[in-house]
Amino acid sequence: MLVVMSHNATKTDIDRVCDTIRSMGYTPAPMPGKQRTTVGLVGNDGAVDDSLVADLPGVAQIIHVSNPYKQVSREWKPENTVVTIASGVSFGGEEIPIIAGPCSIESERQIVESARAVRAAGAVALRGGAYKPRSSPYSFQGLGRKGLEFLATARRETGLAIVTEAMDEDGAHQVAEVADCLQIGARNMQNYSLLKTVGRIGKPVLLKRGMAATIQDLLLSAEYVLSEGNPHVILCERGLRSFDSTARNLFDLTAIPIVHQLSHLPIIADPSHGTGRRDKILPMSRAAIAAGADGVIIEVHPQPEQALSDGAQSLNPEQFTEVMRALRRVAEAVDRQLAGAVAEVA
Ligand code: PEP
Ligand code: MN
Repeated sequence: MLVVMSHNATKTDIDRVCDTIRSMGYTPAPMPGKQRTTVGLVGNDGAVDDSLVADLPGVAQIIHVSNPYKQVSREWKPENTVVTIASGVSFGGEEIPIIAGPCSIESERQIVESARAVRAAGAVALRGGAYKPRSSPYSFQGLGRKGLEFLATARRETGLAIVTEAMDEDGAHQVAEVADCLQIGARNMQNYSLLKTVGRIGKPVLLKRGMAATIQDLLLSAEYVLSEGNPHVILCERGLRSFDSTARNLFDLTAIPIVHQLSHLPIIADPSHGTGRRDKILPMSRAAIAAGADGVIIEVHPQPEQALSDGAQSLNPEQFTEVMRALRRVAEAVDRQLAGAVAEVA
């Protein structure tokens, strides 16, 4: 439920609404706006009786939020949320940041080389996992703490913002020491204790859609982070499991305009995991931007054929440079632009 106060409501009126919401057993969330304050009611799991609040002085209107997710919904907040992870790297505004880098951090040399290459092509953030959620326990699991140190070196060398995955609560605190944005992977989208932990840490979160999650599941997972007081959530479409084995996943680009309709949070696209195929990154990242994506995350490796994970879907630096050229043109065609200075390599 949202209580919209009239533009001339006083602080006493607002405090009275908050106290009444508390007396009903819920938590008030006052949101001052340019014209008027809105007080959200948090903590209900179903319809709320508004009779105690509706007639209080200064109350202009009561809006019942019809979705099970509240704080992430457009009803709750009509204007887009812009999530800034580092200076000049904002998701949800006019500019479209591109995040790029290897699936996993494999060595200091590999991540620094990757960082230099993606920066030269125009990426503004570096991706790379130190903790890897692999389907097999015998596959490379990531370098852990050492990987985070190498990421910090890559940032010092290039100035790129850092996006990297946290897989558990301990890991989230470690990752938060280095990362500008904590990635929650598809396999952990419904790890509710991890979602609460990153909600409490408060740093920006990149929340990937689970491989069998509905859009409502994704938004409810984001709600966990917001309900802990962290509004800095970027959603990510990364493809769904399907019956068709031609591509690794079914890349659901419809999710982008649907999320924009239902939520004020930014949503980016991951064509690397979405398709699993290097040759499909160019068309599907173009399509993602055309569909309104607020960013794209792309796997790039200096030598994809030697990658310890996801080599088949990783671009080499030259291929990534080509993709960036194409994305600049598509962004312009939809009246947006890629974030960051244009670092064209002739
Ligand atoms: C990744 O980004 O490398 C990754 C493991 O992604 P996802 O969680 O989408 O599978
Ligand atoms: Mn990967």
